[in-house]
Amino acid sequence: MITVSSLLDEHWLQRYKKISRLNIRSSIYDVTNRCNLRCKGCFFFSSNEHQLQEETRLEKWEQFIDQEKDRGVNLAILIGGEPTLCLDRVEAFYRRLPTYCATNGLIKVPRDRFPDMMVGISLWGNSEDEKTLRGKDTLAISLKNYEGDDYTYYLYTITPKQLGRIGQVITTIRDAGLKVHLQLLSNDEGAEGFSWSQEQLRDVCHEMDEVLDQYPDTVISSKYYHQIMTSGQMLGRTWGWGECPSVTEPLDTRDPKPKRLIRFIRWGADLKTMHRCCTSATRDCSTCLDGAAHMSWVMVNKRAHIRSAQDLQNWIEVYEMFAKLYRFLPW
Ligand code: SF4
Ligand code: SF4
Repeated sequence: MITVSSLLDEHWLQRYKKISRLNIRSSIYDVTNRCNLRCKGCFFFSSNEHQLQEETRLEKWEQFIDQEKDRGVNLAILIGGEPTLCLDRVEAFYRRLPTYCATNGLIKVPRDRFPDMMVGISLWGNSEDEKTLRGKDTLAISLKNYEGDDYTYYLYTITPKQLGRIGQVITTIRDAGLKVHLQLLSNDEGAEGFSWSQEQLRDVCHEMDEVLDQYPDTVISSKYYHQIMTSGQMLGRTWGWGECPSVTEPLDTRDPKPKRLIRFIRWGADLKTMHRCCTSATRDCSTCLDGAAHMSWVMVNKRAHIRSAQDLQNWIEVYEMFAKLYRFLPW
């Protein structure tokens, strides 16, 4: 019988043991329906998820978070809208649970109030692309706000227009003493020139591998993750609704159920509505390039990767990447 210890040498076995101690149960929360930007391709607005009646009473948020904790959640991923517009709600999470806050970086999270909260700044390219897609050069502002911050990284959503220029953006981030994780635009609103061809996906996979080799201290990623996300293939299986692990558990009617995130829910800002999955409910799953969902696809399928040393090492690298992004492991 093939076992973990029969496939790994001592070095990999130690790495495996470190992550197998983690038992991460995440859920995602829309903190507010408002945002100080309106990006072309934002799944939140394009699927009208902002139209819920937002809960504004802080005590309701506090009660809700306590219930989530009792439900077994040990990682709160805050998205929006823009969470920094409602820092009292963010603080209610932060005081109760390990918390990660996604932001566009225009407002600085005050570190005296949130000393070690993980912050992920969304970035959609260089200044030119940011102006086209988001109406503003957010990079210049967020760099100023977060330069040298130990608990912040950029979540760089690469678009086809970034091909051949990814390294330049990485260098800028490195020079500001920050880290970066890579993902791909799904172009939910069909912005012209921002949809991927198969050839471009192959090229971007290659380029992401190159920047990972070139800037290993800045880029938090893995080549296996690049390959899975750009090909939509994992161990001979094809990405899509039938495989996605990031579906809200109480809404998951699939039969048979694939391996999935346990107890995962994405909650709306009314604290009552559950959204279908970690991203847009109106997105076509077969073309979904969501990075976190692909990462989770690998992570929940550990058993399938216990078939060769290379497969299991690939799995370990993706799990480590996830753990670093949420600071369960140091970078
Ligand atoms: S900053 Fe984020 S939430 Fe706001 S519009 Fe852009 S993608 Fe959407
Ligand atoms: S849109 Fe993406 S994340 Fe959502 S269910 Fe489909 S494949 Fe999963």
